[in-house]
Amino acid sequence: MIGKILGNRYEIIEKIGGGGMALVYKARCQLLNRYVAVKILRPEFTSDEEFIGKFRRESQAAASLSHPNIVNIYDVGTDDHDIYYIVMEYVKGKTLKQMIKEKGPLSSEETINIAKQISLALHHAHSNHIVHRDIKPHNILITDDGRVKVTDFGIARAVTSSTVTNTGNVIGSVHYFSPEQARGGYIDEKSDIYSLGIVMYEMATGRLPFEGESPISIALKHIHEDVIPPTLINQEIPKALEDIIMKAIQKDQLKRYSSAKEILEDLNQALKQPMGNFVKFDEDDDSPTQMIPVIKEKEPLKNKTSYAELKPKRKNNHRWIVWGAVATAFVLALLFIGGMFYLKDIFIAQEKTVPSVIGKSYEEAKENLENLGLKVELGQEQYSSEFERGQVMFQDPKAGEIVKAGYPIRLIISKGPKMTEVPTLVNRMVNEIDFILENAKLKGGIVKYEYSTLPIGIVISQSPEAGKSVPENTEVNVVVSQGPETKLVLMPNLIGEKIEDAKKMLETLNLILGNVDYKSDERVEKGRVISQSIPAGTEVEEKRVVDLVVSKGPENVGQPSEEDELQMKPVSLMINFQRAQREEFVLRILKKQNGISTEIYKATHRKSKGSQSIVIEGRGRAVIEVYFDDIPVDTVKIDFETGSTYD
Ligand code: ATP
Ligand code: MG
Repeated sequence: MIGKILGNRYEIIEKIGGGGMALVYKARCQLLNRYVAVKILRPEFTSDEEFIGKFRRESQAAASLSHPNIVNIYDVGTDDHDIYYIVMEYVKGKTLKQMIKEKGPLSSEETINIAKQISLALHHAHSNHIVHRDIKPHNILITDDGRVKVTDFGIARAVTSSTVTNTGNVIGSVHYFSPEQARGGYIDEKSDIYSLGIVMYEMATGRLPFEGESPISIALKHIHEDVIPPTLINQEIPKALEDIIMKAIQKDQLKRYSSAKEILEDLNQALKQPMGNFVKFDEDDDSPTQMIPVIKEKEPLKNKTSYAELKPKRKNNHRWIVWGAVATAFVLALLFIGGMFYLKDIFIAQEKTVPSVIGKSYEEAKENLENLGLKVELGQEQYSSEFERGQVMFQDPKAGEIVKAGYPIRLIISKGPKMTEVPTLVNRMVNEIDFILENAKLKGGIVKYEYSTLPIGIVISQSPEAGKSVPENTEVNVVVSQGPETKLVLMPNLIGEKIEDAKKMLETLNLILGNVDYKSDERVEKGRVISQSIPAGTEVEEKRVVDLVVSKGPENVGQPSEEDELQMKPVSLMINFQRAQREEFVLRILKKQNGISTEIYKATHRKSKGSQSIVIEGRGRAVIEVYFDDIPVDTVKIDFETGSTYD
C-alpha cells in the first residue's frame, strides 16, 4: 500500500492503525497538499456487496456532518472496485483508549471535559439523525492540545450479520454496547448515551464495567448485571459525576438521559457543583401497574359497609322500603341493559384497532380494512422512491390507533418512483456533469479516470446510458479521460554498440531513430555508435526521437586526435519544480552552442516531487535553457570543462 496513489491524489505514506473492518493510513493529498487519514476497507469485506453498499451510504451520510468535535470526512471512494476507502481529516494525537492505558483513571475534570466534547459531537450528529452506534475510546481521538474528535459516525451500521461472522474483530466493541444493541433490539440516540456512559465509567475508574470470556458473556452482563458503583473503585469520583454515569448507563432506555443535550447540561452543572445532588433519576414506581390508588379507594368503602352493619336496627325498620327500591332498581337496570344492547349498534359503534396496510397492494389493503368494518378513502396518488406502483404508501389514521367501525381510513397509493431521462454526459467536461445531472433530477455516482486519446476531463462513457428512463435520484457513473497514457522509458547507453543493435534496442523500447551522422573516429570501431542525443539514464516518453553519431573508422591518418576530444563531460543540473504551472508538466532543456540550439532533454515530471537533478552532457561552454511546458523558466551558462557556471 505504501507509496500507492488512490483516486489520483492520495499518496499513502504510512500505516497508522487498524481495526476490525479497516486499516488506517496517513496519506498526503497531492491536490490540496495536506495530510489526510485514509481508511481502507479490509479485503475480506470487499466481496460483500451488501456491506459495501451500506458502507458507502453510511460514510456519505457521515460526510454531511461538520463539527469541531467530529472528524471531518472529505471523500469516499473506490479504486477499481477492489479498494474502498474513506478520506478524512488527519488527527495528530492519540486515541482515548491509548490515553487511559497510559494514564489509568483520569481526573474528574478531565473526564467531564472529554465527555462534554463527546456530547457536543453526539448532539450535532443526533440533530442530523445520525446515530453513532459504536462509541468507544478507540473512536475518540484526542489531539495533542487536548481537543476531542469523534470518528466513525454511523459506519458500524454497515456491519451485517455476515460481516460479523466473517471476522471476529468486529464484535470487539461489545464492551460498550447498550443492552438493546446486545439484544439486537431497537437502537436510537439513547444507545449512544449508554456507550458514552460506559466510556465515562472507564475514564473515571480506569476499568471497564463488564468484562467476560466471550462477547456473548459480556453482552449478557450489559443486559442483566448491575455495575459496581464507580466510587467503590475510585473514591475520588465526586457524587455528581457518579450520578451522571449511572443515569447514562441505565438498562431501560427510558430512564437514561433522553438526549445528548440533557447530559451536557448535567456535565456543566457537575463542573460547578461536583458534590451536588441535581441528577434526576426516574422513580421506579411510575411504571404503568399502579395498584396503590385502587387499594386506597377500597378502604373507605369497607368502612362504610361496617358502619352500616353497626346499625342493623335502622335497616330492619325500613326493610320494605329497601326491597321496593331494590326491585325497582332491578327492573330499571334490566330495561336499561336491554335497551343498551338494542341501541348499542345504533349509538355505540364497535371499536377497531387500525391495522397497518402500508406496503400492501390497494386491493389487499381495501379487503383487509373492509373486513374489519372500516371504510376506505383514497387520497391523490403520489410518486415514491420507496414504494412500488400500486402499493399503499401512506395511511391515516396510523396502525395501532383505535377508531369506531365504519371510520374512513385515508390511503395514498404510490405511483412508483418518478422517472426521468438520463441526459448525455459523454463528450461533456467532468465539471459540467453535476449541473446537468441536477437539472435532470439525478445524482453523480462513481467517477473513474482512464487513459484516453480524448482531452483530459472529457467524459468517455456513462452508465446508465443517455436516453434511458430511470427513477429520479439514480446515480450516474462516468468514466473520464485522464489524457493519453504516457509511458516513460529509460534511455539505454548505445555508445560503443553496433548501429544495427542500437536500432533494434530503440525499436524495442518504442523510441524512434532520428538522424544518423557518420563521422570518422580514431578510437571507435567503424559502424559503432560514438554518441547519442539523449544521455543514457534519462527517463523519456515513448516515441522520442534519438539521433546517433556513428563511426566511419579512422580517416585521415596523422590527424591529431586528443584522447578525450569526443568524450562528453557530464554536469548535473538541479531543477526546482516550484515554478511549474501544472501538476504534470513537460520539462525541456535546450543547449545553445555556436549559434545552434539542440534539445538535450525532454520528459514529463510531477510538480509535487519538488525537484530533481538531471545529468546533461557537453563540451566547452554552452547556454542551457530550461522550459516548463514551453515556458522559459531558467537560463544557465555552463562550462562543461570545469563543471561550473560562468558569466
Ligand atoms: P473499529 O474497526 O471497530 O472501528 P478501531 O476504531 O480501533 O476499530 P479504526 O477505526 O480502523 O479501528 O482505526 C484504527 C486506528 O487508526 C485508530 O485506533 C487510530 O489510532 C487511527 N485513526 C483512525 N482515524 C484516524 C484519523 N482520522 N487520524 C489519525 N488517526 C486515526
Ligand atoms: Mg474506529
